[in-house]
Amino acid sequence: MIYLTTKSAEDTRELAGALANLARPGDVILLAGDLGAGKTTFAQGFGRSLGVTEPITSPTFVLVHVHQGRLPLVHADAYRLEHLGEVIDLGLPELLDEGAVALIEWGDLLAPVLASDFLEVRLEMGVNDDERRLALRAVGAGWAARLRSLGSAVGRWRITDGDWAPGGHE
Ligand code: ADP
Ligand code: MG
Repeated sequence: MIYLTTKSAEDTRELAGALANLARPGDVILLAGDLGAGKTTFAQGFGRSLGVTEPITSPTFVLVHVHQGRLPLVHADAYRLEHLGEVIDLGLPELLDEGAVALIEWGDLLAPVLASDFLEVRLEMGVNDDERRLALRAVGAGWAARLRSLGSAVGRWRITDGDWAPGGHE
């Protein structure tokens, strides 16, 4: 696990952008966290770093947005999916095969269906309105092999695990 903290929405976007620099075709990133935790904000910074110029907004009602950047970016919201089969219908596996990177909000159930390897980014509220805590967890060998470069890419946001749990400061 890698534990991080951000001080503002823009700070979270910058962190996400640093992670996007490591993205490879076919990558799946699960964004976990409550409403308002910053999942869509993270997606905005990630996309900006991939060179997406159009606005990145919550895909809640259409389930999936596809943006063009250095790599195609699939931004999905699994919250409203009734059945995992809908994801297949939406063509996510094909998009990944074609080299897209997928960011899946609320993807706890979905991410493991799409890929045996994925990066989990869990966001939680911090001690004030503008602070967030993030925990990165590599699932599968592909991301585990990148943990070292991941750690250095996000070094400036890093905290020790004892400081991660909200309220764990002081
Ligand atoms: P989610 O997609 O998880 O529901 P959003 O990204 O849509 O969350 O909303 C997060 C809200 O919290 C935004 O209004 C954003 O400006 C605000 N915010 C404040 N501080 C932060 C931070 N450090 N990181 C991310 N968002 C933050
Ligand atoms: Mg959202």
